[in-house]
Amino acid sequence: MPHRSSAESSIDIPRWLRHLPKAELHLHLEGTITPETLVELSRRHDTQPLTLEAARALYVYDDFQHFLLTFKAVSERLRTAGDFEFITDAMLRDLAAQGVVHAEVYISWGILLRFKPQLAIRDVMDAIERARLRAERDYGISLLWIIDAVRHFGVEEAATVFRLAAELRADYPSIAGIGIGGDETGGPARDFQQLYAEARAAGLRLTAHAGESTGPVNGPAEIWAALNIGAERIGHALAAQHDTDLLRVLAERQVPLELNLTSNIRTGCCPSYEQHPLREYFEGGLMITLNSDDPPMFGSNLLNEYVLAQRLFEFSLEQMRELAANSIEASFLPAARKLKLLALVEQYEGVEESVAAAGAGARSTP
Ligand SMILES: [Zn+2]
Repeated sequence: MPHRSSAESSIDIPRWLRHLPKAELHLHLEGTITPETLVELSRRHDTQPLTLEAARALYVYDDFQHFLLTFKAVSERLRTAGDFEFITDAMLRDLAAQGVVHAEVYISWGILLRFKPQLAIRDVMDAIERARLRAERDYGISLLWIIDAVRHFGVEEAATVFRLAAELRADYPSIAGIGIGGDETGGPARDFQQLYAEARAAGLRLTAHAGESTGPVNGPAEIWAALNIGAERIGHALAAQHDTDLLRVLAERQVPLELNLTSNIRTGCCPSYEQHPLREYFEGGLMITLNSDDPPMFGSNLLNEYVLAQRLFEFSLEQMRELAANSIEASFLPAARKLKLLALVEQYEGVEESVAAAGAGARSTP
């Protein structure tokens, strides 16, 4: 049962959570664009640039299909490699300020290849790698890329994406894995079995969005299918709550789940925070992590997700530490960095102690 010690009652919990070292494992680069950043991109590219008001209006929606359209409208204003460098810089600055010490970020080559054929993927990689290295130097934050295909664009387009990821991995070792996102019904996981086997053989780690928008009837089958094609982490897994066998297997195998609380509410995939299975998964011994998905599009960020989860589901700070440790444990980092970050999480005592623990990265301390 949730409990709170008397010592915790005197702690500034949001501040404690801000400095708790943590990893973000489910974040879409194109989904980190704030309305302010979008206005700047629009100023660069549109003959009639968006006002801030119009940009903000784009982020208001209440269902999954509309969300996908919004996502497209935003990503259409990413036109040059320099734009990608610009948004990666902004994303990493923002993550560092939330106490994020490691991030695994989806970049949708599926969208790039289909809608931006004028952009060479290598130029984009060079640009975002410059931003990654700067942030590693300036904030001590590490980042791995997960190359994302759009599942409803079909298997052939995904094949192009994943084969290119396997090829470019030699030049960009920060490419750690692959994933499929988008409309699950239009691109069921089972269709990607062969491609996932191929990607695994090429040394790529496997993730899949599953059981997000598919609901209680079809959702569990999508998660089973994601496991069957070898997905090592499941994005969302909201529908697992409707299948007790699935819950048991996820717990037994300790399959990391990339949960996205606010995202699920804002896209309408889950009716309310109260009905979200996050706490139930935790109590059931599932390996859960907190993530933010497309934070500005949902009016949230990772720190806010930690604050919300703690408050709504009455997690103790020790349990929040466990969730942060899960996020490091479930990452695709090499063992040495993983152990170092896990030690930081374990030793974290609060703001002063964390700042004193050199190597945590130069977080922007308020
Ligand atoms: Zn996602």
